[in-house]
Amino acid sequence: MDAVLGALQDLDLMRVSAPMAAEDDLLRVHPKSHVTAIREAAPETGFRSLDADTHMSVGSLAAGYRAAGAAVRAVDLVLQGEAGNAFCATRPPGHHAERETPMGFCLFGNVAIAAKHALDHHGLKRVAILDFDVHHGNGTQDLVEDDARILFCSSHQMPLYPGTGDPSETGPHDTILNVALPDGSGSKAFRQAWEGTILPRVEAFRPELIMISAGFDAHRDDPLAGLQLVVEDFIWITARICDLADTLCEGRVVSCLEGGYDLAALGESAAAHVKVLKERSDG
Ligand SMILES: [Zn+2]
Repeated sequence: MDAVLGALQDLDLMRVSAPMAAEDDLLRVHPKSHVTAIREAAPETGFRSLDADTHMSVGSLAAGYRAAGAAVRAVDLVLQGEAGNAFCATRPPGHHAERETPMGFCLFGNVAIAAKHALDHHGLKRVAILDFDVHHGNGTQDLVEDDARILFCSSHQMPLYPGTGDPSETGPHDTILNVALPDGSGSKAFRQAWEGTILPRVEAFRPELIMISAGFDAHRDDPLAGLQLVVEDFIWITARICDLADTLCEGRVVSCLEGGYDLAALGESAAAHVKVLKERSDG
C-alpha cells in the first residue's frame, strides 16, 4: 500500500478517507453468513489463513470493510457530482471474493458492492465493470452475473489463477465478456482485445457509470504472471475508458485497486493511471 500511496503523493488530488462499508452494502452481494464468517475469522492476534493465499491479520477486517466502503463512497461522490471520477487506493482487493468464499487475497467484492450501490441506492439502470487485472475476476463475475443491469468485462492471462474466465462464460443474461490472453501476450494483443472486443461492447451497453478493477499485475515486471504490459499500456487503457465515459456517462469513472505485486511497477503504473483520471476530471 505504501508503494501506491507514495507514488500518488506528488499528485494534487482531492483525498477522502475510506469509511467502513455499511452492512446493507455488503449484503447486496454477499449472504449474511459470509459477512459473519469473515468477522468471526478475524484474529485478535497474529494471523489466520482462510485459504492458501488469503490470510487475515489483526487489521484485515477493518481494511476489508474500508476497501468496500471506499468504493461505495467513491460512487456517491461521483454520482453526486462532487468528483468527476475517483480512484480507491485500497487493499485488500476484491475481485476474487465470491458470494460465500473469500479467496485470492480478497474478503469482499468491493467493485461489485459499489456497482450494486449505484444501481439500488442511486437508481442507475446500467453499470459496466471493466477489469484489466491479469487474473480473471471470478468473484465479480459470480456476484454480478445474475444481474442484467451490470456488464462485466475482463481481460486476463489464461491459463492462470483462478482458472475461470473462459470466453464461453457469458452469464445467464449475456452480460459477461471474458477475453483470455495467452502467457507472453504484450501490448498489441492487450490493446486489440480492448479496442476490438471489449470497448465496443461497453459502448453498446450504454452504462451510466463505468467502474474499473484496476490491477497492475499484467506489468512485465510482475512476479505472479506473464503478460508483458508496460506503463504506457495502463495509460492507454485508462484514456480509452475515459474517452468512452465522456461519450456515454459524463465522464463518470470509479476505479478500484486490485492486484500488483512488483512494488516499483505497481507504484509507477497506479500513479500513471490516476494521473490520466485527474487530467480528464480537470479537463
Ligand atoms: Zn491479479
